[in-house]
Amino acid sequence: MLPARLPIPLPPARHELATSYVSRLATVHGLGFAELWAQLSAPEHPATTRRRVLPETLAALTGRPRAQLAGALPELRDPAPNWALFRHEPQPGCPLCDARHPGGPVIRLLPHHRYVCQRHRHWIGPPDITAGATPLAALPEILRAQHRHLRLLRRHGWAAIYDAVLTGFLLCAHLWTPPIDPDIDACFRWDERLDVLIADPLADFTASRLFAVVYPEAVALAGVLAPASWRHLAHGEHHQRQRFLAEIGRRLGGPPYRPAATSDAVEHWMSWDAPRPSITPPRTYLDTRARCCNRVFTPGKANQARHDRSAFWFVRQPDGGNVILHHRHVRPVLIRPWSPPMANTQGAIWASTTLDPAPQADLAECAT
Ligand SMILES: [Zn+2]
Repeated sequence: MLPARLPIPLPPARHELATSYVSRLATVHGLGFAELWAQLSAPEHPATTRRRVLPETLAALTGRPRAQLAGALPELRDPAPNWALFRHEPQPGCPLCDARHPGGPVIRLLPHHRYVCQRHRHWIGPPDITAGATPLAALPEILRAQHRHLRLLRRHGWAAIYDAVLTGFLLCAHLWTPPIDPDIDACFRWDERLDVLIADPLADFTASRLFAVVYPEAVALAGVLAPASWRHLAHGEHHQRQRFLAEIGRRLGGPPYRPAATSDAVEHWMSWDAPRPSITPPRTYLDTRARCCNRVFTPGKANQARHDRSAFWFVRQPDGGNVILHHRHVRPVLIRPWSPPMANTQGAIWASTTLDPAPQADLAECAT
């Protein structure tokens, strides 16, 4: 039998999952998670085993106003938040922020634009295998990129910037994959940052840190990939395209960008994607929640297997761009609704660089 109010005060963390908070409450009070969750939740519908936390019960048990709980826990908000603003996968946040919250791991549902803890100068990154602390003191440009990302968000709106930053990651990953263009200064910066963040590939590798390596340039490119005026130039007349390519080159720290003759990710984006609207997240947390709503979220075996596979290949061939291209975080812009269907990820990566007019014809058919 539970007491009317739990004796140890334990505030929720910002953007924390309800199951994560209940798990920490159970731990600090020496209770079982299943027992406490059963008391604090009820089935979503009579015909389902999925359970939803009861806000009034949680408020009574913790002694915290419902509004305060809802401010921290997105699942308690009424009306429900716009789930498209959040990543669909829960993840740990900044380890130094989490250290203030006892009771075990703090699992959060972060908004798409949150890559860096500005307070502690730590990389959070996209959902991935937990990397442990990734301090950014030696790489202040990554911290500045988060500030710039937030400014772009305010100026252009979340949907345009969601697409543009992911596309920035995708283009950087292509450019960082051999053969490297020696005119692109950013490639040398990426190698230098890689040496700082993954000094020992056996011990330090996570795909998340590779995203940190290219994040400043991904955000810099987003500034030209998002605005309608630049997108118009990207698929405009020859002189307009040249102006766009000059800006891409400038943001990568080099001369005007020169697309490769047969396949090029930048030129592919200019021809295929720039004329079309920004994509929206293909999945939201509501899709993930169906799998993990009655238990504390932990990374699945498939995630661990993907990480082990990437680490295996990265140790043998440290090709950071290739790891990013295969990571699920860029998948929404690697495979867009109008992309030609491919049998596997390798095919989709090829398709995202092709300048072949034949898939263009397929695209036209899709559009009709
Ligand atoms: Zn922090």
